[in-house]
Parts: sequence; C-alpha cells; structure tokens
Amino acid sequence: MKQEQIDALRHLLIPDQGLLIDGQWATAASCQTLPVVSPIDGQQLCTIAAAGSEDIDRAVQAARRTFEQGVWSRMAPAERKKVLHCIADRIEAHHAELAVLGVRDNGTEIAMAWKAEPGSAAGTFRYYAECVDKINGEIAPTPEGTLGLIHKEPVGVVAAIVPWNFPLMIGAWKIAPALAAGNSVVLKPSEDASLSLLRLAQLCLDAGLPPGVINVVTGTGAEAGEALARHMDVDILTFTGSGPVGRQLLKASAESNLKRVYLELGGKSPNIVFEDAVDLAQAAKVSAMGIFRNSGQVCVAGSRLLVQRSVHDEFVERVQKLAASLRVGDPLDVTNDIGAISSARQLARNQSMLARALEQGARLRTGGQVIAPVPGGQYMSPAVLDAVQPDMDIARQEVFGPVLAVMPFDDEAEAVRLANGTEYGLASGVWTGSLSRAHRMVRAIKAGVVHVNTYGGPDITVPLGGVRQSGNGHDKSMHALDKYLDLKTAWIQL
Ligand code: NAD
Repeated sequence: MKQEQIDALRHLLIPDQGLLIDGQWATAASCQTLPVVSPIDGQQLCTIAAAGSEDIDRAVQAARRTFEQGVWSRMAPAERKKVLHCIADRIEAHHAELAVLGVRDNGTEIAMAWKAEPGSAAGTFRYYAECVDKINGEIAPTPEGTLGLIHKEPVGVVAAIVPWNFPLMIGAWKIAPALAAGNSVVLKPSEDASLSLLRLAQLCLDAGLPPGVINVVTGTGAEAGEALARHMDVDILTFTGSGPVGRQLLKASAESNLKRVYLELGGKSPNIVFEDAVDLAQAAKVSAMGIFRNSGQVCVAGSRLLVQRSVHDEFVERVQKLAASLRVGDPLDVTNDIGAISSARQLARNQSMLARALEQGARLRTGGQVIAPVPGGQYMSPAVLDAVQPDMDIARQEVFGPVLAVMPFDDEAEAVRLANGTEYGLASGVWTGSLSRAHRMVRAIKAGVVHVNTYGGPDITVPLGGVRQSGNGHDKSMHALDKYLDLKTAWIQL
C-alpha cells in the first residue's frame, strides 16, 4: 500500500449507480436516487438508486428464476468452485480500487480498509470456494432393510442486508457461503456504504457468475430493506446491523412467510485486564486499538475496559496517553491512524451519548471533541471515560464510536459479573499470565468470542456471532454454511 497508489485513485469520478437485477444495471422503477456523501470532506461522490417494492420484487423474481432453472444451484460443484475462485482473483486484481472506493464512501482509515475489506473478502471467497465440493450428505444408521439418506440442499433465495462498516468484508461473509451452497442472492447494502459492494457485484458477473444469481438493491432500510424483509418469496434473511432493526426483521418474517432470520447485532464488549497480565504496555496498546480502530465503528470493539484495581491507574494512564497520541484525519493519508466517522448522523449520536455519560457522572480523561482535520468532514478525537458505574447508559449501551468506558474491579468474580452485566454477548478480551484463569474466564464470559492476551484478528476459519441480544447466527467458518443449506431426508424401504 503506497500513498502514490492511493492518490492516483482518490479523485476518480464515480458514475451514478444503478440496481443490479437479473444481470442488468437499471434505475429504480420510481427513478428515485439518494446522494452519496463522503464523510472525508462532505463532498457528494455520486448517487445510488433508491429501490422500492417493485424493484425488490423484480430482484427476488430474478433470484428465484435462476435458482429454479439450476444455472447455478445445479452447476457441477467443481465448476462453481472455479467461479468463486475467479471472483477472488478479480477482487485481488482490483484490490487498491476497491479499498479506496470503500474509504471514500465510509471513511475507514486506509490501512485498516486495505486489509479488512478487499483483502479479507478475497480470502473469504477462496475459503468457501474450497468448501463447494466438500458438502457431503450422510447415511443414517438405520435398521436392516431400510436406508436413511440425509441430503444437504441449497435453500433457495437468500436476502442479505448489511451495514455500513466493513461492507465488503461482511458482504463477502454472507454472499460467499450462500453462493457456495448453491443459492441465489439479493443483497441490500447500507445506504451509507453501497459503492464497494456494487463494484463487487460487477466483478462477480465478470468472473462468470450467471446473471440473476446475485442481485443488488440499494436504497433506504425503511423502504428497500423492509420490502425485502417482507417479501413472500425470500427463503432466508441474513442480517448484520443494529438490534432495533433486527427486531423489526423478526417481526417482518412473522408477518410474511416465516423466512429464516439470522441476526448479527451489536455489542458492548468487555476487555478485562488482570494484574497478572504479562505485558501491560502491550495490553494497553492492543486495547486502545481494540476500541479506537475505525473510530470505534467495529461490532466487536472492546468498548468497556475493566481493569483490576491494583493496576488500574497505571493502565488507564497508558491507554489515555495512547488515545491522545493517535492521529485522526484524512483516512486516505497513510500517516493517519484513524479516519472519519461514517456520517453526520453517527457523529451526532456519539456526541449525545458522550454528553449523557458526563451528565451521569463519568469523567472525560481525554478526547471526545469534534475536530476538523479536513474541512467539511466528520471527525472525532478518541475519548476515554473513567469513573463509569455499571448502571450508567455508557456502560450498557452501544455507542459504535470512539468512546471507551473504563471501570475498575477487585477480583475475578467481580470481573465476570461486570463483563456479563449487559444485554449483549458479542465479543470480549482477557489479559492474564495465568493459563488456568484464562480458561476459567473463557468459560465464564457470555460472548461469541473471548480473545486471550490479544484483541481482534480471528480469521475466517472460526465463527463470529453473538449470544443474548447480540444475535443468533454465525458468519465465517464451515459453520456458516449450515445457514444456507436445508436438510432433506430420503427414507427408503429396501
Ligand atoms: P442498521 O441496523 O441501522 O442498518 C443495517 C442495514 O439494515 C442497512 O442496510 C439498513 O439500510 C438496513 N435497514 C434499516 N432499517 C431497516 C428496516 N426497517 N428493514 C430492513 N432493513 C433495514 O445498522 P448500521 O448503523 O448500518 O450498522 C451498525 C450496527 O451494526 C451496530 O449496531 C453494529 O454493532 C452492528 N454490526 C454488527 C456486526 C456483527 O457481526 N455482529 C458487524 C458489523 C456491525
């Protein structure tokens, strides 16, 4: 990743974007559009089509038709595998273009986007390409004279609704296993970050994915998203986003065709530092980036820092200094550590949650200011709050911004109580030199992932998903394939 390479791409004109339905790019039936405004400098980049229910219906029909025709669902597994590998090749060939396009759209710092967006999306397509010809059925241990076969079949039409943070990475986590299992897909990106996924869809067509197997419908959640969630011919809805929208999707399913709904929602993840942590300096560095990378706009962000009282002051001092030293600015400047907040709406939410925390008695150790390193852009300095009490809103509610809430604890039992003291259960971290304590904590914490002596970074081989109100599904790993497959029994009298 070189600055010259980024600079060559950062001012490219972006044409107004259409919907991809049945292999054709088209305007919305209503001809309505939404502006795409870059959080880097507030400039309008282009428009995206604002799909309505008529467009959603056409996209679902295209997905259904291709599924029933078998152009993809019944294509030989070895051939499907080649196409998915070819998509990965295309992503790699367009790595820089995709990374810069995504950053212009959502403001993630380029170093992070470079790795987490096209880098991980290509790897995800390769991983699931390799799964295509390893999805075996089973023979059940039935009595003499009978044969029980368990077939694994693609489900049909998969709707995927994704958020604005890491759209390529999260989009690939859903599209690649859904396609590997033989389904057709209708993808609804966030209205705040559609561009890189629209580009990915074109790369899928270029790689030989038959038209209509992937369809992309942009637009608002209230209109395009809702119409997709309520469509009577969608078999599965896989969603990543906020809890309130997750609830609406369950309702939409209940009030339409009972489509299966998988939810990957938010978190308020505890990062727990014990006095026996081996290297407090390293723990502080990783913990600071565990909340502040991508301006805290990371579902697994370690937004609650729980520190054992004996090392509390020293540790918080380190984190505070690190936070204050981070360079916030133009996300396409490789010398900056942190980029922009994705939208004015999100920045306002961060500020109001910070103000509420101060009102409720938390103390601001550093940061929290709205700053303007690039005129017209949305930026905020990383905030560290201490004197946080477990019942404050800032200790219980997700900010999804660069705000760290610090709380002390006395012993392991209190750490567990605090860690599990929210309605969420997405991620967590434990820093300790004791192997026994590490294992005890892994068992005790209610979360989909417990990082030990690190924070962040698990690869595609392991599942990501939450418990409690952080969701009910898993992306990544072989387990994600199960979401996109139906089991069918053949019971045969011999
Ligand atoms: P959001 O819930 O506002 O939007 C997500 C998607 O849902 C967007 O595409 C949006 O257009 C659509 N949507 C909104 N209202 C809808 C409706 N009524 N019907 C159908 N679709 C609708 O979330 P966001 O602000 O884009 O993303 C941030 C949230 O996502 C945070 O809570 C974060 O924790 C969560 N997240 C979770 C994970 C995970 O893996 N668990 C990963 C990334 C982000």
